[in-house]
Amino acid sequence: MPHAAPSLRELEHHDAFLARHIGPNEAEIARMLEVVGQPSLDALTDAIVPASIRLDAPLDLPAPLDEHEALARIRALANRNKIFRSFIGQGYYGTRTPNVVLRNILENPAWYTAYTPYQAEISQGRMEALINFQTMVADLTGMDIANASLLDEATAAAEAMTLAKRAAKSKSDTFFVSERVHPQTLEVLRTRAAGLGIALQVGPDEDAAQADSFGVLLQYPDTYGRVRDHAGLAEAVHARGALLAVSADLLALALIEAPGAWGADIVVGNSQRFGVPFGFGGPHAAFLACRDAFKRSMPGRLIGVSVDSQGQPAYRLTLQTREQHIRREKATSNICTAQVLLAVMAGMYAVYHGPEGLKRIAARTHRLTALLAAALRGAGVAVGEDFFDTLHVTGIDAGAIHARAREAGINLRAIDDESVGISLDETATRDDVIALAGLFGAAIDDLDALDAATPDALPAALRRRTPYLQHPVFNTYHSEHELLRYMRALADKDLALDRTMIPLGSCTMKLNATAEMIPITWPEFANIHPLAPADQTEGYRELIDGLERMLAECTGYDAVSLQPNSGAQGEFAGLLAIRAWHASRGESHRDVCLIPESAHGTNPASAQMCGMRVVVVKCDRDGNVDVEDLRAQAAKHADRLAALMITYPSTHGVFEEAVVEICEIVHAHGGQVYTDGANMNALVGVAKPGKWGSDVSHLNLHKTFCIPHGGGGPGVGPCAVKAHLAPFLPSSAPLPPPAGEGARRADGGERPAGAVGMVSAARFGSASILPISWMYIVMMGAAGLKRATQVALLNANYVAKRLAPHYPTLYTGRSGLVAHECILDLRPLKDATGISAEDVAKRLIDFGFHAPTLSFPVAGTLMVEPTESESLAELDRFVEAMIQIREEIRAIEDGRLDREDNPLKHAPHTAAAVTASEWTRAYPRELAAFPLPSLKKQKYWPPVGRVDNVHGDKHVMCACIPIEAFKDEAAEA
Ligand SMILES: *Cc1c(COP(=O)(O)O)cnc(C)c1O
Repeated sequence: MPHAAPSLRELEHHDAFLARHIGPNEAEIARMLEVVGQPSLDALTDAIVPASIRLDAPLDLPAPLDEHEALARIRALANRNKIFRSFIGQGYYGTRTPNVVLRNILENPAWYTAYTPYQAEISQGRMEALINFQTMVADLTGMDIANASLLDEATAAAEAMTLAKRAAKSKSDTFFVSERVHPQTLEVLRTRAAGLGIALQVGPDEDAAQADSFGVLLQYPDTYGRVRDHAGLAEAVHARGALLAVSADLLALALIEAPGAWGADIVVGNSQRFGVPFGFGGPHAAFLACRDAFKRSMPGRLIGVSVDSQGQPAYRLTLQTREQHIRREKATSNICTAQVLLAVMAGMYAVYHGPEGLKRIAARTHRLTALLAAALRGAGVAVGEDFFDTLHVTGIDAGAIHARAREAGINLRAIDDESVGISLDETATRDDVIALAGLFGAAIDDLDALDAATPDALPAALRRRTPYLQHPVFNTYHSEHELLRYMRALADKDLALDRTMIPLGSCTMKLNATAEMIPITWPEFANIHPLAPADQTEGYRELIDGLERMLAECTGYDAVSLQPNSGAQGEFAGLLAIRAWHASRGESHRDVCLIPESAHGTNPASAQMCGMRVVVVKCDRDGNVDVEDLRAQAAKHADRLAALMITYPSTHGVFEEAVVEICEIVHAHGGQVYTDGANMNALVGVAKPGKWGSDVSHLNLHKTFCIPHGGGGPGVGPCAVKAHLAPFLPSSAPLPPPAGEGARRADGGERPAGAVGMVSAARFGSASILPISWMYIVMMGAAGLKRATQVALLNANYVAKRLAPHYPTLYTGRSGLVAHECILDLRPLKDATGISAEDVAKRLIDFGFHAPTLSFPVAGTLMVEPTESESLAELDRFVEAMIQIREEIRAIEDGRLDREDNPLKHAPHTAAAVTASEWTRAYPRELAAFPLPSLKKQKYWPPVGRVDNVHGDKHVMCACIPIEAFKDEAAEA
């Protein structure tokens, strides 16, 4: 008998994650379809996506799970990871994340959903946090200037190598690397040096003095723990016109002299042990610090101090507004997405502990290490001397020791058959030391007595004398209340996704669902050392395998590497695969990379890093790749054609009809097709690059697959390839360690011919954030992912359509529709009224909006990508703001507002400006602050007025602002 109640299935549907992830509901979707003039989502899709590439079958993915089921599933995976006490070290150390930082930064959407701080006025909070990080790094390393941030220590070392190449007087092509750097650092240097034609010379530290090289890299303390005085070496290196780069440990620097004090020119490293968990390898914030003289050729992002329109200090990205406006072929590196969230955490760790706290943590770590060393020596075991936190235990049966350690739930570093490494850290306890000593048969009866009898083991000449962290920010917020309020005050200065849509073209600022975020801080994911043995990481392996398979299914490729920790790293890995494949066919001379002029700046920068020659292909009037020009260029360079890099749908926001033909042309001339997958949000479930003729893509999991932007990182940039390129994906393990004390190299130190080395320090890159994308796909399922794509297309077309009477959309496809983003052309308005796209971007702040992408890929335009997660109400709020702004521009056209003294030119308006006793503007205060009535109910006040870009680049200042600079402000208050 049928009953009147709704079926169980209908009732269950309303719990689906899909309905939470996607902004508009059914009724709203119907209304929006009407506005864009399409009968259904499928019809809309057909009208936008070329038939030649459209999928006819759904993705082959497991049925979707709701949030609770998916969390239970991933909980089961997490439980299969085993948490051992890891004393492996090798660049990764146990740390205690201050709980106040864990909850209020890492787990706080105000921080993790923020975008890269291109819009300075709404990013002052995170930029202050980053300048704290820069100051901390510059102080501890003893260098003039530090960036914020790089992807990992190994790639930072590679950046130091290229910086040295650019900046050194020596014209040598050789870079000398100490054999005592971390193995993964050497491995990544090998990969990067090969692409650039740099020869690596690896040898003992002493040889660096004589080597004919443009630069030298040392590790301090070195990978086996030794702390050595390199001042003499530094002089010898400088005498040859070469530069000295040092890979340093920040915690050790709290006790030992800064590399800057004894001659280093560049210092790199990882800030992981400042409160950021292992995470099976990442993400962590690496850093690069250098002498002032090199600041203009530094890689990565640099926060600096400028002034705002009121003359008050204000932060902004300094010098290198490269990233999206990256200097293409002339770029100094391809770094775009970095590790901002983790840099913020590490900086806060220093704010929390202050110089005294850091020194105490370092001293305690060292003390415990010294006690362990004393106990081992007492038992006749050799441990080396002059160490900070790491012992190289030699002359033992390593196999037996490791077996005993595993029994005790302990991991030690595997070095060779006769030695192991032990690194202590902030989390080490008295019991740990006793247990560790016990593994070697050394009994400690009375640790305090041993303590009293054991001197420190740091070389006296290298004791730290240079002061650090003297700025008040590191000496004020030491009670939890103070720090909590400081972090809250910073977050309140910023606009992130928890307050407004961030309609950034190309960056896909979609929902980062809470359920996706929850697993990443579980200890079973967070507290796993990247070199933990395989039987402790089964859960991770299964998650990684599963994610790789699902991404392969979404893209139509055959194999995926999750190692690249940003999109640009994925590009680099993909292009290396192409080069290696050509080489395997005896065609290593193929080095020309065709790149359309509309490409993202990282594309040519990555090609450059692989030693490719970039040839630019024109775009036609409709924004498409000019197929005739492509054909001509491919033919002209046929002998040397390596690849085409194409973004699809294009950065112009359209699905080019000719993409299949484009792939055929490139293949016909011997090249491979690289599809930049940053725009995958317009494709998932609708078309697959791997099926229409592309050979390789990177994805941006921090765009399409829900990893939050974190204020500019972390990211994951998987490299996905067709089967023929699979053997050339990045390798997953460093070569055996170079010959250290007693270490024997298992092979000649070379990979099998043709193989590609590692591109990141850790085998699985930023492993600990992979659960986010896994959760997303598992909760969405095939139908959900397709619907997300379709609604992303709908939302973009809805915005374009509603704004059409006010701002023309620059490029559209065959049916007059856009893809998942639209470029609003403001250039005619500029000509008519002098109002620029930038003025509109800044005026949006007064409406509480984060601006769209400004002047990329076309100068003078705004690119809007609403994503599927924005509701109709939020889209309308944006549309209304844009229409009101258009009215203001019209008022300028009509002479109702002054051409110079108007709310656009003076935007954004701070509370201080609009409430000042004196108001001299030619327009009302109310218009300045509340251009729409709804703003009276809820208003975001920017903390600073418009930030002066020119001033900031002329007077480069990249450390915490000295208190004196705020005097005027204080006097007024
Ligand atoms: C974001 C983006 C990239 C670079 O990705 P990162 O993760 O920032 O390195 C490359 N290409 C396009 C089109 C992008 O939008």
